[in-house]
Amino acid sequence: MKIAESTIVITGGAQGLGRAMAEHFAAEGAQLALIDMNADTLTEAEGICTAKGAPKVKGYVVNVTDEAAVEQVFNDIVADFGAVNVLINNAGILRDGMLIKCKDGEITHKMPLQQFQSVLDVNLTGSFLCGREASAHMAKAGNGGVIINISSVARAGNIGQTNYAATKAGVVAMTVTWARELGRFGIRCGAIAPGFIETPMTAQMKPEAIERALSMVPLRRWGQPDEIAHSARYIIENDFFSGRVIEIDGGVRL
Ligand code: NAD
Repeated sequence: MKIAESTIVITGGAQGLGRAMAEHFAAEGAQLALIDMNADTLTEAEGICTAKGAPKVKGYVVNVTDEAAVEQVFNDIVADFGAVNVLINNAGILRDGMLIKCKDGEITHKMPLQQFQSVLDVNLTGSFLCGREASAHMAKAGNGGVIINISSVARAGNIGQTNYAATKAGVVAMTVTWARELGRFGIRCGAIAPGFIETPMTAQMKPEAIERALSMVPLRRWGQPDEIAHSARYIIENDFFSGRVIEIDGGVRL
């Protein structure tokens, strides 16, 4: 699929990886529909993408966990842009913590259900809802489409990330399922599994966690958001790519 003049929907498009992808595609002449919960950063992203050359950019303040709001926003995007050609399911959160803690035979901590569930709601249910609505519009229009789910190197399992790792493995399973189910409509689905990338999300990490993380990366540096945008571009442009995961992680293995 050609990027110029395609309508690309990016969830979590206001900052970090979502914004880097938006800027990258803006410079290539894509039309951009950015979905995010944060109205302020969304307005900023709209301005930057317009300045970078996108022929049309519109931000939508939506929580991707809200089924009715997600249904509505995809109807609005189709009304505003005429079609949805690409969806990038990128909105995601971290709520790290150990499953249990035990000291001297006493359980001192159990991960609260809310901490587990909140990450599933955004990373997994949000991707499901947006994928369902986008694919319905794509299939109805009959011109194919592309869905990209943002996974993580943490999908292999990672200490302190019961919730996050489960969602990032889950989006890979959805990617393969959708590639199989939606291929008959000409809809392709791929995933990207980033390693440690320099964004506001990773800026929340403690200095010792950053040092530990970097020591596991053979290239000994953070990835840059535009290196992820580059992979998204590859998936969009390669019309025989479907049902697979691209790992962009500097060689890290968890
Ligand atoms: P970020 O925190 O910098 O940005 C996430 C964006 O998503 C924010 O703009 C936020 O407002 C938005 N968002 C969060 N919850 C939302 C919701 N319920 N509805 C709508 N928007 C919501 O994060 P990032 O580092 O740019 O990460 C983007 C994606 O990449 C996430 O799925 C993350 O898990 C994944 N990822 C990031 C890294 C990394 O190192 N940064 C590594 C692997 C995977």
